Amino acid sequence: ASTAPTLVFGNSFARELPELGASWRAAECSDPQLLLLNEQLSAELGLDADFLRSADGVRLLVGEVVPEGSTPVAQAYAGHQFGGYSPRLGDGRALLLGEVTHADGRLRDIHLKGSGRTPFARGGDGLAALGPMLREYIVSEAMHALGIPTTRSLAVVGTGNSVRRETLLPGAVLVRVADSHLRVGTFQYANATGQSDLLRRAADYAINRHYPDAAQAANPYLALLDSVIAAQASLVAQWMLVGFVHGVMNTDNMTISGETIDYGPCAFMEGFDPSAVYSSIDDAGRYAYANQPVAAHWNLARFAEALLPLLDEDQDQAIRLAEESLTRFPGLYSAAWTAGMRAKLGLTGHSDAAVSADLPGELLALLDESRADFTSFFRALNAAARGDAAPARAFFPDPAAFDAWANRWLALSPDADAMDRVNPAYIPRNHLVEEALAAAGRGDLGPVGGLLKAVTAPFDEREGFERYAEPAPLDFGTYRTFC
Ligand code: AMP
Ligand code: MG
Ligand code: MG
Repeated sequence: ASTAPTLVFGNSFARELPELGASWRAAECSDPQLLLLNEQLSAELGLDADFLRSADGVRLLVGEVVPEGSTPVAQAYAGHQFGGYSPRLGDGRALLLGEVTHADGRLRDIHLKGSGRTPFARGGDGLAALGPMLREYIVSEAMHALGIPTTRSLAVVGTGNSVRRETLLPGAVLVRVADSHLRVGTFQYANATGQSDLLRRAADYAINRHYPDAAQAANPYLALLDSVIAAQASLVAQWMLVGFVHGVMNTDNMTISGETIDYGPCAFMEGFDPSAVYSSIDDAGRYAYANQPVAAHWNLARFAEALLPLLDEDQDQAIRLAEESLTRFPGLYSAAWTAGMRAKLGLTGHSDAAVSADLPGELLALLDESRADFTSFFRALNAAARGDAAPARAFFPDPAAFDAWANRWLALSPDADAMDRVNPAYIPRNHLVEEALAAAGRGDLGPVGGLLKAVTAPFDEREGFERYAEPAPLDFGTYRTFC
């Protein structure tokens, strides 16, 4: 039996920053059907899962019924897409319903993607096809389980309407949950209005929601910039450590909160390759695996530019402050990456001197040569730390160089149990995601469910899940992703 929601939504974004959104309503769905519901997340958000499964609950999840306290808005933002500036992007096919309080006491945005055209839709149809929304659900929940900051997925609802892409596809709405949907592009948009009061209110809102300590700093807006730089340096390091390639690191897809957002053409790398690119629209490799830290740094420079009017009355001084902050990004990134790599090697307790700076670098050079499957190689290293080096050696056609490296590493007594907790057995492998989406397109959600079971407990190696730990078969070929 369904109970009426007692829950009242907040509308702090719509109320405090009305210039950064357009009040809007979701399109009607012909036959909404709940396809996936994240029960654990709904419980954390104080949303009753039985209610969400009811007809009224599903109508709320697609935006047809507006919950108490909610004033849905399409958010405005600008952005650099592949380096080129667009002054007006915004939610073309999405709506922010409002905020609810998570069990941890902090607010979360409840956001719909695929809910119809908005004033920001430009030429787009405002819709989302089922496949990409399931993909975002699977990959974002996998990232969360890997311990990487990310937007979450609460539900996928089939709309009953068709979406025209190359062919007619079933439509869907993804219900997304985030610390907030503030982006670098939000600040680019606010700054471009020339209203310094709006820019200040947006910055105050970000500080209040994400970095409350910054409010106490001598220069709160500089502290905001520094906080976002630190959060993004850590985030991108974590992507690199699991082989995640975001695919479309435009400034409108980089959050202020430090969460991964917008799982469009993303993919997990299999064979180690610094130049790995999956997106069909990234021919130049701007967002290739190894370029991600550089792309993040570039985006943060755009964020700093947008904040300049707030950093100091004297704009020359503001530029000096921004540059000084941006200079710290490479060091922050390296420190986060090195700490993470040390954990992957089971050497967390060791000093810098003990783990000669080059142990990780030499390993990556070996992987680069052999194109070893990144995820299963590190999992095999766990076995090597327990005395069985054969699975790790098998990745190298000529294992002599690996043996030399492994002897130096083993001499440091790596902690295999700790490695089990950071080197995942299961990631959302591209061939498995595609297989699950194809089955879902035929009405069979079984493979999506199986994959979700594997990737939402990625460190817990289980019997019966062997196929989720294996690289794609050779006949899967070169993987290409589409937005
Ligand atoms: P993305 O590449 O997904 O980050 O989207 C870039 C911009 O295009 C954002 O402003 C989106 O809201 C917009 N957009 C993407 N797909 C659609 C669509 N089908 N209809 C309307 N707007 C869209
Ligand atoms: Mg986007
Ligand atoms: Mg997208």
